[in-house]
Amino acid sequence: MKYAKIALSTPINKLFTYQVPDDFQEKIAVGQRVLVPFGKKKLTGYVIELAGETDVPKLKEIEKIIDEQPVIIPSILKLSKWMSEYYLCPLGEVLASAYPSALKKPKRKQNSLPKKSDKQGGFVLTEEQSNALDSIKKDIDAEKAGIFLLFGVTGSGKTEVYVRAVQHVLEKNKQAVILVPEIGITPQIVERFKSRFNNEVAVLHSRLKPNERYLEFERILKGEVNIVIGVRSAVFAPLKNLGLIIVDEEHDSSYKQTETPKYNARDVAIMRAKLENAVCLLGSATPSLESYHKAQKGDYKILSLTERIEKRALPKVEIIDLREEFVKKGRPEIFSDVLKEAIATRLEKKEQVILFINRRGFSNFVLCRECGEVLTCRNCDVSLTFYKNKNVGKCHYCGDQKKIPELCPKCGGGSLQNFGFGTEQVETELKNYFPDAKIKRMDLESTRGRESFEDIYKAFLNQEIDILVGTQMVTKGFDFENVTLVGVISADTNLNLPDFRASERTFQLLTQVAGRAGRGEIPGEVIIQTYLPEHYAIQASREHDYKNFYAEELSFREGLNYPPFSFLTNIFIKGPNEERVKEASQKLVLSLCREKKDAKARLVILGPAEASISKIKRQYRWQIILKTNVRSFARKALVSAIERTELPKGVTIHFDIDPQGIM
Ligand SMILES: [Zn+2]
Ligand SMILES: [Zn+2]
Repeated sequence: MKYAKIALSTPINKLFTYQVPDDFQEKIAVGQRVLVPFGKKKLTGYVIELAGETDVPKLKEIEKIIDEQPVIIPSILKLSKWMSEYYLCPLGEVLASAYPSALKKPKRKQNSLPKKSDKQGGFVLTEEQSNALDSIKKDIDAEKAGIFLLFGVTGSGKTEVYVRAVQHVLEKNKQAVILVPEIGITPQIVERFKSRFNNEVAVLHSRLKPNERYLEFERILKGEVNIVIGVRSAVFAPLKNLGLIIVDEEHDSSYKQTETPKYNARDVAIMRAKLENAVCLLGSATPSLESYHKAQKGDYKILSLTERIEKRALPKVEIIDLREEFVKKGRPEIFSDVLKEAIATRLEKKEQVILFINRRGFSNFVLCRECGEVLTCRNCDVSLTFYKNKNVGKCHYCGDQKKIPELCPKCGGGSLQNFGFGTEQVETELKNYFPDAKIKRMDLESTRGRESFEDIYKAFLNQEIDILVGTQMVTKGFDFENVTLVGVISADTNLNLPDFRASERTFQLLTQVAGRAGRGEIPGEVIIQTYLPEHYAIQASREHDYKNFYAEELSFREGLNYPPFSFLTNIFIKGPNEERVKEASQKLVLSLCREKKDAKARLVILGPAEASISKIKRQYRWQIILKTNVRSFARKALVSAIERTELPKGVTIHFDIDPQGIM
């Protein structure tokens, strides 16, 4: 074989042909990584095809073969090709995100988390659990590519079903992948699997350094492990004999990659299971509208766990109307009296409290009371979040930060003031009310510094912390028996966003965070503070009523023709020159309109319009949204519209198939 077709991680969506030098002829194989010259650079490429002939003249040579053995196994190559077509993304970029980039062999290092005793080992399954397990086993035995939705309330023992399904797969001499959303949820589930299956488990979490990830990949490739647990990219784990893929908390938005390729690991998992005749098990207490809708239609088999294990009660949820609190006190306060009292009671009883606030920093924004100026980022059309500890304003989009000036930069007045609040301010006020309590904050900022996520997690587990204040990090999968109170400081942060998933997000967050309470023997209590107490997302989370929420939300989506009733593509047009960005957006819409005329399928084009955040990192942003009932048609229309549209200099187009939101 004299020629090789290579996929490269460049924005150009094609394979590149290279000459195979004579001394590589024996060694080269499909699935290897190679080093090739590309322009003036050297790039890592992936061998996709080998050929004896080519009609491409004047070829460059492959410089080096990186792997002795192919690292891309045939099933993953097939999956990656599907992704490349589905997400309109070059194959090289898909493979680059699937495979660790480290080339050298690193030293082995073990990092372990605090162990929690596996108290549920050997316990008897509930009837619902064993029914669910039986259905899953049946499909595993039949080697059918069945898709299950395990819909179980928080604390209903979904993990135990996962563990036993995996056990069954191993008995059949097959292998399993378990996807988890984020580091926050990983420690407990990882420990659970490790304590059951010891060394058979490889872990791919999001903070592995490239070389650590490489080591785990090597173990998987060599067949040393049969179980892989990991975040999003673990969906590519090169297991050769897959029997089961589990997607825990399938609704979670962290399964969606925000950079190219913008894939959703849940959807990729379903496709991988189909291609390899494996079973796919989606689990959630708050399934995404799409998944539940598919289950209703009969595309997925639904398995319900309606009760918590040991018949423990779901926590009692109380809604506090912040409008009434405001009238009563004449000013806004972070803590209602009810919440303060509830915290005091728990502290007395030496029980633990989780407080959730979906915003980092001290305050939302800094505003001049004299002229109305809001301090904004110099690179983005975004207000700066105030951090009191460091006295800086920070941009959450580009990371830029600056000292807060004494005087207003616009009018020179001395009336700059911060508005809104975040985790830092909640922590500060909490310390005023409860000076003796041990309080810790868990958010992106606090876990980046001296104390890691593990340190705080461990301290909370050992009951060295009374109150944990945190962002989304504290909502997912935490299972601490001594937590009896969960307070939601403000339920409205997400609800007011102009996005079609705003209600769904809110319901999911509230249900998940509420689920952290009362997982031990003492019943739990949840207090939700809100300015919108009548909203159906909030009402439904009070009653733990997914089905009611689903019915309301589904009719809202149907009315506006949003998913699951249509498929969306979100297109961003970006560039440093505002006029050119606008011009390119208009041209693209014209090309899209022309595509629309030829078709029988329905294609709705919304825009072009300035994006709701009109500038990020000095790039102006315009937006077009495509809605369609036939996915493949929208893709085709987009591809040929882009081909036909000549872009002004500096302008780039980015698209997101099945976006999580439209902002
Ligand atoms: Zn001013
Ligand atoms: Zn910025």
